[in-house]
Amino acid sequence: MHDTDVLVVGAGPSGLTLAASLVKKGVATTVVDRQAAGANTSRAAVVNARTLEVLDGLDVSRRLVKEGIQAPRFTIRDGRRILIPVDFSVLSTEYPYSLMVPQATTERLLLDRLTELGGAVIRPKTLTAVVQDADGVTATFDDGDVIRARYVVGADGMHSTVREQAGIGFEGGAYQESFTLADVRLRGDAPADEVILFWAKAGLTVVAPLPGEIFRIVAPVTDAPEEPSAPFIQQILDERGLGAGRMVVTDVIWGSRFRIHHRVADSYRAGRLLLSGDAAHVHSPAGGQGMNLGIQDGVALADALAAAVGGASESVLDEYSAARRPIAQQVVEMTDRLTRLATLPRAARPIRNTAIGLAGRIPAVQRGLAMRLSGLVYR
Ligand SMILES: Cc1cc2nc3c(=O)[nH]c(=O)nc-3n(C[C@H](O)[C@H](O)[C@H](O)COP(=O)(O)OP(=O)(O)OC[C@H]3O[C@@H](n4cnc5c(N)ncnc54)[C@H](O)[C@@H]3O)c2cc1C
Repeated sequence: MHDTDVLVVGAGPSGLTLAASLVKKGVATTVVDRQAAGANTSRAAVVNARTLEVLDGLDVSRRLVKEGIQAPRFTIRDGRRILIPVDFSVLSTEYPYSLMVPQATTERLLLDRLTELGGAVIRPKTLTAVVQDADGVTATFDDGDVIRARYVVGADGMHSTVREQAGIGFEGGAYQESFTLADVRLRGDAPADEVILFWAKAGLTVVAPLPGEIFRIVAPVTDAPEEPSAPFIQQILDERGLGAGRMVVTDVIWGSRFRIHHRVADSYRAGRLLLSGDAAHVHSPAGGQGMNLGIQDGVALADALAAAVGGASESVLDEYSAARRPIAQQVVEMTDRLTRLATLPRAARPIRNTAIGLAGRIPAVQRGLAMRLSGLVYR
């Protein structure tokens, strides 16, 4: 006897997408999250074209597009000189741009859709253990509750309890640099329709637009403060050639710091336990792929689980793992290359910029990057 067909652990973007997709397909689904309420911070700021394509079927894309701003261009620059221009507007998709929208908004719209479809998130409820047998999984929670499900999905983030309980390895490592991140108001000439990576000799700075005339600034620094102040961010812009009246920070709306790991789970499946999102892969935010991959995992896993619950061979679940894991590996490789290039030692940076400037003139290089950053290469 099962309480539910699928227990989804974690109501981040991946778990919410999976749950809404399952409920839409008529699969009995229970979602739990250990937080009393969803996070309201901006975090992942880019929704790419492929994610908008896959969320179309859930009727979430048009809602996202209404709340976000469209950035059809991505450039890597050295000061005002463009090293690589990436133009999404030429791509053959209904969504030829990066949609800039805070993660809290994306999560709110996914939760709204889940609720509309008749689903709900039970919170706060923390999974502590899972034990599987021939016909189901017994999940235990910190409040002593027990839920019996046919399948359990760990959409419970980087430190996934489901992954640990399943004994699935999470190989990889961490980069040395720490990064500062701030959503700020700016005076100056930051464009509202373009994501820019400035590769100055003094170091990398990312400047990306968000709704409400806010800009996201990200930069590697030796010792990132827990909450960056306006003078701290201004100092980074000044040191890296973006200050001097070009960009003046007037206000920090939200800030944070982070270190980056690069890891992929050894498998996305161990019997009746499955992984989705950050529980299965983490990597550098260069190129803004993390949340996008997690949402795309959710849609793919919903198809596989609906088939398995409907009586199809469980090999569909292995196919999910076999299809999604190599994509995560490719994303880890691409973001690793971008991160290493962006954080090369100071002395190597002028040579790097000359080489990148030459490569960036090649149309195939520009198009290849556009396909990867938009996620359309993984269609
Ligand atoms: C400061 C910061 C900035 C970021 N910036 C970017 C960016 O610019 N671009 C980008 O692509 N990504 C960025 N990310 C990463 C992005 O936020 C993640 O990739 C994304 O949230 C992953 O979604 P997810 O649904 O897989 O997992 P999560 O969002 O981590 O959600 C997991 C959920 O599981 C719940 N949970 C965990 N354990 C349990 C348990 N035992 N029982 C019940 N519930 C549990 C948690 O409460 C959480 O709600 C950033 C992250 C941070 C923290």
